[in-house]
Amino acid sequence: MSECIFCKIVKEDLSCFKIYEDKNVLAFLDMNPIHPGHVLVIPKKHSETILDTDDDVLKDLIVITKKISKAVYEGLNLEGFNVSMNQFEVGNQAVPHLHIHIIPRHKDDGLRFWPQREYESEEKKKEVQEKITRLLK
Ligand code: AMP
Ligand code: ZN
Repeated sequence: MSECIFCKIVKEDLSCFKIYEDKNVLAFLDMNPIHPGHVLVIPKKHSETILDTDDDVLKDLIVITKKISKAVYEGLNLEGFNVSMNQFEVGNQAVPHLHIHIIPRHKDDGLRFWPQREYESEEKKKEVQEKITRLLK
């Protein structure tokens, strides 16, 4: 995965504004922030999405995301923030190396995320529920 941009950052072949580092996890400023203080938290070992990432690494990532979020929230006097992950190209993932976004938010910052709509029927809702839950049994 030598061409992966985030692997290059891990190997220090590409520079970043580092926020946090330990044995398995690296966090740095997003170079094109939604708001200043937008941080990316990544596993050092390459994986693409949560589906091919070790459970232990995912647990580490979310705990460290909490720790960094507190520093971002308090350090930048925020009123809120989003923690989000894009998965696969269709899910808006531009960099195919797992990453968690910590996105500072401000009152009336005009950012609205996805539009929502109702299910067309209770039957459709039940069908969707069944398609998912049968794989969790
Ligand atoms: P995503 O759309 O979830 O894959 O987000 C990828 C993010 O990585 C974007 O917000 C980019 O601005 C950010 N990004 C891409 N390359 C770099 C880089 N070399 N250093 C810092 N952030 C980057
Ligand atoms: Zn990578």
